[in-house]
Amino acid sequence: MPLATPQEKFALRGDLLDFTAAPAWAELDPGSAVRFQPDHWLLVDETGRIQGTQAEAPDESWRQIDHRGRLILPGFIDTHVHAPQLDVIASYGAELLDWLNTYTFPAECRYADPAVARLGAERFLDALLAHGTTAAVVFATVHKVSAEALFEAAQARGMRLITGKVLMDRNAPAALLDADVASAERDCVDLIARWHGVGRLSYAVTPRFAPTSTPAQLAMAGALCRADASLYMQTHVAENRAEVAWVAELFPDARSYLDVYARAGLLHPRAVLAHGVWLDDADRAVLKASGAQIAFSPSSNLFLGSGLFDWAAAAEAGVAVSVASDVGGGSSLSMQRNLLDGYKVQALAGQRMSAWAGLHAATRGAAEALGLIGEIGHFGAGTLADVCVWDWAVGPVAAARAEVVRGLHERVFAWMGLSDERNLHSAYVAGVERFRRAS
Ligand SMILES: [Zn+2]
Repeated sequence: MPLATPQEKFALRGDLLDFTAAPAWAELDPGSAVRFQPDHWLLVDETGRIQGTQAEAPDESWRQIDHRGRLILPGFIDTHVHAPQLDVIASYGAELLDWLNTYTFPAECRYADPAVARLGAERFLDALLAHGTTAAVVFATVHKVSAEALFEAAQARGMRLITGKVLMDRNAPAALLDADVASAERDCVDLIARWHGVGRLSYAVTPRFAPTSTPAQLAMAGALCRADASLYMQTHVAENRAEVAWVAELFPDARSYLDVYARAGLLHPRAVLAHGVWLDDADRAVLKASGAQIAFSPSSNLFLGSGLFDWAAAAEAGVAVSVASDVGGGSSLSMQRNLLDGYKVQALAGQRMSAWAGLHAATRGAAEALGLIGEIGHFGAGTLADVCVWDWAVGPVAAARAEVVRGLHERVFAWMGLSDERNLHSAYVAGVERFRRAS
């Protein structure tokens, strides 16, 4: 698929912030990992790739777009979010297993209808862009057509998207179950052949979570991963205590919840596991050895009362951690809101998450963990220009706060804490402006 091209080269002027490496955990001194270039120019060539950054204005062959006084960041990467669950965001009063049965499964049933799936995918991706998220790892529903719709809508927008049809063959309403292992495998194989590696799209083998797949279906999913190391895998692990206990009943031979996936061959460097709240040191060692990453979903963990993810222990064990909205368990697509919730979760766990650690995990860190560092997540030359332009402050409270900040970390932390999608001025995907706030 040819990427949509911006046709003309252009340069964005503003305060550029990205990362060149992972900042040390809880280290406020930016050091060399944080690259803050106030009032600089970001150059984007005709192919939608970043050519570089510079302090002086480029020559007049570049269309100059002046965002002086605004913050320019790499587009956010949301590593775990459910497209069909926008329809049940902010649903009252349930923990994970109730919440699935009461809200989520009924909402997902509607996505068997191609028209619902198509409109839902378009609404979802436009909402991501309007929140400054330009790339995502996304759950569709069990229906093949729901994954098709997401791939088509992402292709139309030039977005980096990783998704797949959900695998479920037990413990859910009949309308959401694969007919059998063979038919689920056929659906996956068809979708992989049609979409995996096309443009900026990748397929993720997507068992929802251990309780809704039989061992035979998990084994099939593992075999798909073994057959093609370029495939991603996404699932949930150890989110909630009742769920962990249920998995122990369903898989009595497994050492732990994570071990169910390890035995099925589902842990590898392209595996994204949401939550990981209730893991132990042995699990973390397995994650580290496999190269799989955890998608920390703080807003969801708070909203559903699931528990406090121990990021410091994961970091200590060398496990890659990205940040995710997990909408609709999470209550906002805004990555800043999720990062502030992440800070609160860490505070409750006796830790402190710096703005650097949070913003890195939502940009370069996620790109690195997904094997996409050559494509997105930073302003390095040659990467695609997935770039967002943000107001530093919206409204009198944030404006007053911004006036008294001392130092760069305090300034950026206050932005992270007080901003949301209302701060987004524009979002570029591969150098094409795909969102601009109505003036
Ligand atoms: Zn989820």
